[in-house]
Amino acid sequence: MKAAVVREVRKPVSIEERPRPEPGPGEILVRILASGICHSDLHILDDEMPSPHPLPLVVGHEGAGTVEAVGADVTKWRVGDRAGIPWLRWACGECRECIEGWEPLCAGMRGTGFDEDGCWAEYAVCPAAFAARIPEKLSWEQAAPVLCAGVTSYKAVKLSGTRPGRTLGVFGIGGLGHLGLQYGKLAGARVIAVDIHAAKLSLAEELGADACVDASQGDAHRRIRRQGGVDDAVVFATSARAIRDAVKSLKPNGSVVVAALPPGEVPLRASDLVDRGVRLVGTALGTRQDLMEVLDLAASGRVQVKVETCRLEDVNTVLDSMRAHRLDAARKVIQL
Ligand SMILES: [Zn+2]
Ligand SMILES: [Zn+2]
Repeated sequence: MKAAVVREVRKPVSIEERPRPEPGPGEILVRILASGICHSDLHILDDEMPSPHPLPLVVGHEGAGTVEAVGADVTKWRVGDRAGIPWLRWACGECRECIEGWEPLCAGMRGTGFDEDGCWAEYAVCPAAFAARIPEKLSWEQAAPVLCAGVTSYKAVKLSGTRPGRTLGVFGIGGLGHLGLQYGKLAGARVIAVDIHAAKLSLAEELGADACVDASQGDAHRRIRRQGGVDDAVVFATSARAIRDAVKSLKPNGSVVVAALPPGEVPLRASDLVDRGVRLVGTALGTRQDLMEVLDLAASGRVQVKVETCRLEDVNTVLDSMRAHRLDAARKVIQL
């Protein structure tokens, strides 16, 4: 099969032929038809989030396609079923976090394209219990980004506790944020979109943002506070400053949910949290239940997933654009 393979970190991935994986007991083999490109992939390739898997490694954790074969003991999947392979490919199911419904926090959690080979390939395997069913109405290209960007931003908005009558600040209108703002609107909130790029702010407007704030024009929090502030905020921008702006934009008793990994430290004073009773929460991924909900939401047509497709051979060019922050909000998806 054709695959994009990491042979050395901080080097281009190599497009090569490699053996098709075989599904082991409890696993399914998926013929990947669309595979998203996530910032986490870039962090792995650039050694900012080193994979424990010995190289070579196939990255990619937004793989959507059809079941090609099922391993022994698989009863709920059949050849031809529509399947998605997310980052969360295994959690123990027995630890406190798993039992309490926080399986992405399981200490034994295994990540696709990180702990094991992922989806930038024509075929990939996944434990059947953690593969997601892709609704009929959803195209492969639209489904792929939901498997990571969608579920992560959906969970962040859920954790923010936003609801009708509250204002939600969405910081960073990229692959995650353009979805997060739509989930915020669906939750009934008034949404303020914050970004440093005019093009992303106009996309936010098109997707239903009630107000937009251009953070390239100095302290965004001052302008948000002048507009009354926000009750809650979600941060998707890879920017420590965005986290600070979010905290400082809050009304009393609000929460900031951070789903981005900017390098370095966040410049905050304890008083920024203490004086207004701010809750600062981190989040990554979502549970299998969150993933089912967000795939259904995408299939219902109530959320627009912005994608741009590329070929597997073009993946290095796309990665270079991501490194140079030249990408628009649309998620890049490899068509296979
Ligand atoms: Zn991801
Ligand atoms: Zn566990």
